[in-house]
Amino acid sequence: MMLWSLRGNGNRKSEINKYMKTFFRVLVLLISVTITAQDTYLHCGKLIDTKSGEILIEKTVVVSGDIIVSVEDGYRTSQNSNDRVIDLKSKTVMPGLIDMHVHIESETNPKRYLQAYTQNDADVAFSSVKYAEITLMNGFTTVRDLGGTGVNVALRNAINAGKVDGPRIFTAEKALATTGGHADPTNGSKKSLMGNPGPKEGVVNGVEDAKKAVRQRYKNGADLIKITATGGVLSVAKSGQNPQFTIEEIKAICQTAKDYGFHVAAHAHGDEGMQRAILGGVKTIEHGTLMSAETMELMKKHDVYLVPTITAGKFVTEKAKIKGYYPEIIVPKALDIGPKIQNMFGRAYKADVGIAFGTDAAVFYHGDNGKEFGYMVEAGMPAMEAIQSATLTNAKILKMESQLGQIKSGYLADIVAVNDDPTEDISTMENITFVMKNGVIYKNQ
Ligand SMILES: [Zn+2]
Repeated sequence: MMLWSLRGNGNRKSEINKYMKTFFRVLVLLISVTITAQDTYLHCGKLIDTKSGEILIEKTVVVSGDIIVSVEDGYRTSQNSNDRVIDLKSKTVMPGLIDMHVHIESETNPKRYLQAYTQNDADVAFSSVKYAEITLMNGFTTVRDLGGTGVNVALRNAINAGKVDGPRIFTAEKALATTGGHADPTNGSKKSLMGNPGPKEGVVNGVEDAKKAVRQRYKNGADLIKITATGGVLSVAKSGQNPQFTIEEIKAICQTAKDYGFHVAAHAHGDEGMQRAILGGVKTIEHGTLMSAETMELMKKHDVYLVPTITAGKFVTEKAKIKGYYPEIIVPKALDIGPKIQNMFGRAYKADVGIAFGTDAAVFYHGDNGKEFGYMVEAGMPAMEAIQSATLTNAKILKMESQLGQIKSGYLADIVAVNDDPTEDISTMENITFVMKNGVIYKNQ
């Protein structure tokens, strides 16, 4: 009926011809764009194969869109004049780095405790954009954000949508605590401002609260769960190491988290809280400061990884010596716990505990994440293993091992480079000179 009436109408017919012509023009344009799409040829003097732990010589990595399409011997050039060649012949090239412990919303400064009462979410958001960019420019193309206000979820979305430059973020949204625990947001307030935070605000007491808090994080857009299994250094509270969850609460959190495909990260300095977290079902122990030999065995038995955060330990130890930098209640905790982390890391590495590279950036300045490599090597871990920890191991924990952590055909094009060979000079990891994320070059110096 429709066709018949069109046939009978000369004007409509020419209109249809016009549409068809436009359609074909767009089609031809699309095809030509596809044919002439720009591929990138990276000429890599040295290329770290994280899987074998070997450094390969003179390779070409071909990137198309956001994907690595091939890794080839020698320096290859393209037939297509549109393709670009990037000269990294004097550099050591490796997969984009992954930091398993950052807080992208904030950064250390002596006014931080007051800012919790003066800053709105928009203020936090503008700062976090800056921290995200600094993190990416220093070679960390993926991070796990272990707790903030919830701005971290919006930031993740903005980065994924290409509105803001930053690393790929896996976020815990707001960390879970018990009343007065390390991530209770009202610690240190006068009583009239404390209110009664509950599961919605990430404060749980009892098994039902624990389940509800996890489900609330799912609703709020989190990718994983963080708990504060023991006291911590920088909270306005007396103990930096006491256990702060019952094992029943931790089990309820981990079991509920599993329903949503979340893994659970546990902040822990004290040994008892660490053991409860491991037995309760967490995937990573953050800091691990006072970990006993027995707990190290437990870590291995339950396939739990240690996220060392040595850089944060060193930083708080230094700043605690400056009067007024931290509130008084924090100083003795920082001086006690801070210096012990690197030593414990050395023992855990020797005991063959799985190590997941992570720094706690925000406790120190964003962008200094690469210092952690030097501290790991200083404590006895070979440079190649430290790099594997920040790539291969972390990709696996994030269930991204088929897309991240290696420079391999079919993987996402997250690629960074340094000027020197890190197995000869690990400090070169503090000076990343080339950054590509999802096939886009952000830095090439
Ligand atoms: Zn942290």
